[in-house]
Amino acid sequence: MATDTAQVVRGRFAPSPTGPLHFGSLVAALASALEAQARGGEWLVRIEDLDPPREVAGASDEILYALGRFGFSWPEPVLYQSQRTAAYEAAQLRLRDLGLAFWCGCSRREVGKGGHGRYPGTCREGLPPGRRPRALRARVPDREILVEDQVQGPVSENLAAVSGDFIVRRADRLCAYQLAVVVDDSAQQITDVVRGADLLDSTPRQCWLQQELGFLPFRYAHVPVVTTAQGEKLAKGSGATALDPSRAGEWLARGLAFLGQSPPADLAGRPLPSIWDWARSNWSLERVPRERAIPWSP
Ligand code: GLU
Repeated sequence: MATDTAQVVRGRFAPSPTGPLHFGSLVAALASALEAQARGGEWLVRIEDLDPPREVAGASDEILYALGRFGFSWPEPVLYQSQRTAAYEAAQLRLRDLGLAFWCGCSRREVGKGGHGRYPGTCREGLPPGRRPRALRARVPDREILVEDQVQGPVSENLAAVSGDFIVRRADRLCAYQLAVVVDDSAQQITDVVRGADLLDSTPRQCWLQQELGFLPFRYAHVPVVTTAQGEKLAKGSGATALDPSRAGEWLARGLAFLGQSPPADLAGRPLPSIWDWARSNWSLERVPRERAIPWSP
């Protein structure tokens, strides 16, 4: 759907620096790298340090160091979202010029009250008298946005009914994730977005933004999220443990098994370059389980 055959495949891993590389993030890194590299493409890294209050000091460097020790490599400098404010502001201005964004003066509490989380449209036709602009919201259409996900199948959402007019610039002036990710994927000329299925519900919003901003479409593949036995997402923020790089081979083999690639029993013991050779030549997106989440225990 997205790209012509001559286009170089470009994938990316875009961790938020909220903790060390853990098994869940390794799986996302592995799937995105293999999907790009197995097709002769490039794989890039972007650090999503968009939200300073959520950031954990030293986590960016720790993640990049761990990726290196696991045998990942990327041919271009890492893109840091903290350096991208001008690009985000240009995109916000563009949305306003297109009539697709408006200033909203409502507090989070006010929105929460009537709208069940969905914005009730209070400032859509202009700020009510006496209100000051707080956040910028995207003016979403009342129609279905369809995404053909390569792993999860078709996903469709009527943005007006489900998300409502969502925030693209927060009251603290930071760019909202939904917009930043689209602007950056376009700037990094990404063709294939491969990531955890916890982000599937955000994808129709991102896909719509990409269309309205005139960016080339991305192909999407959402791989199952790693959860605890109780079904909670394994997350950096919730104490998921850092992976020991001295056992990189073992972790890579476990990541490949989680992704349905059926690695041979002796793979974990081989040298890293040989593990990567096997992984790249045997990678198949078709074998990735078509589930949104899979429980896993260490
Ligand atoms: N930064 C997001 C995360 O760490 C991932 C964003 C993406 O891959 O689009 O969950």
